[in-house]
Amino acid sequence: MEIVLKKGKERAVLLGHHWIFSGAIQSESAEDGTVIPVKTVRGEILGWGYYNSRSQIRVRMLSFGEKPFTVDLLHSLITDSFARRSNNPFLKPTDAYRAVFSEGDFLPGLVVDNYAGHLVIQCLTLGIERMKDDLTDILNKEIKPLSVYERSDYGGRKLEGLKDSCGQISGETPDEIEINEHGVKYPVDVKGGQKTGFFLDQRENRGLIKEISGGKRVANLFSYTGGFTMAALAGGASSSVSVDISEKANSEAKRIYTLNGFDAPSEFVAADVFDYVRQNRIDADVIIVDPPAFAKSRGDVDHACRGYKDINLNVIKNAKQGAYVLTCSCSRFIDPDLFQKVIFSAVCDAGRQAQIIRRTGHPFDHPVNIAVPETEYLKGLLLKIL
Ligand code: SAH
Repeated sequence: MEIVLKKGKERAVLLGHHWIFSGAIQSESAEDGTVIPVKTVRGEILGWGYYNSRSQIRVRMLSFGEKPFTVDLLHSLITDSFARRSNNPFLKPTDAYRAVFSEGDFLPGLVVDNYAGHLVIQCLTLGIERMKDDLTDILNKEIKPLSVYERSDYGGRKLEGLKDSCGQISGETPDEIEINEHGVKYPVDVKGGQKTGFFLDQRENRGLIKEISGGKRVANLFSYTGGFTMAALAGGASSSVSVDISEKANSEAKRIYTLNGFDAPSEFVAADVFDYVRQNRIDADVIIVDPPAFAKSRGDVDHACRGYKDINLNVIKNAKQGAYVLTCSCSRFIDPDLFQKVIFSAVCDAGRQAQIIRRTGHPFDHPVNIAVPETEYLKGLLLKIL
């Protein structure tokens, strides 16, 4: 059982890229989900990875070099990833963070989030799904979590031929885990919330909003459970309005507002933001625009760009002079340059001037492996509108 690459196609692997696409392969004899050596036509072993014939990404590399991939290596990849987070100054403001971020932590297909000692795992691929028992043993033995819960209901699993798989793996995960980020308490529903319960990837942006919101009126569009709203209120915002289409997310946001004892006037509006920005002039001093991923595949990029432009144009056109707009995109298929161009065209069509005050991206616990730039997805621009 092995994969042999076409002549000249070994370069990406030699540079540490984890993905091997079908087009790079000369011959393949492997069973789906198994770990196999990846070889050159001359028979040299470049490394070891897991195989899936259903996926365009046929192999995801787990190790580089001749030495076979073993459970011991899996063990050190996991413990190293946790060790990088331990006592880390970037994670000081929180007790909830991503402990393993797939290729970003050299473990393609595995996500582990830590919510105040309770772990939530996501197996994104068949190869990782097959290692679940070993993974659980390693986590329980080395990390000693309060519990482990699985949230493998990620859309991409279909491409791997996998169904959703959610449930308790070990210990007892409460229906609600209270975490603390930037001094704000958030009860998180890791069993039913979006992603693994909370948008951990926006932590540093929430910190930025906290920093600039003192005495300001804040509007949070696509607010989910109000993460940015609470950060702004913790930073001394004088009022807030949060808009999300989900009634459930809004009532959760109201509960979090009350739980934290905030008293600045705050509205939680259930509405479609596309309509809301047409029907209401948002005259806040700080505006956050953090929509869901509009582009879920390469084919969606044009449509997604129109979506980003539409919302941002309406926000920027009506923004008061001097307002800050933090605008984000979490679509993997829209790169930072394209996103900036879309926002520029929104600023132009709005007939306004804007300054880029800060470019933001992945937080510490969602590292981008420099050899796999495709895994970068989160982009933010903090604009000042003039
Ligand atoms: N900023 C949030 C995460 C936003 S996720 C945080 O930091 O926690 C995107 C949110 O957009 C989801 O809560 C979803 O319910 C909402 N949403 C999706 N489409 C929408 C639309 N057309 N109008 C309003 N909200 C929408």
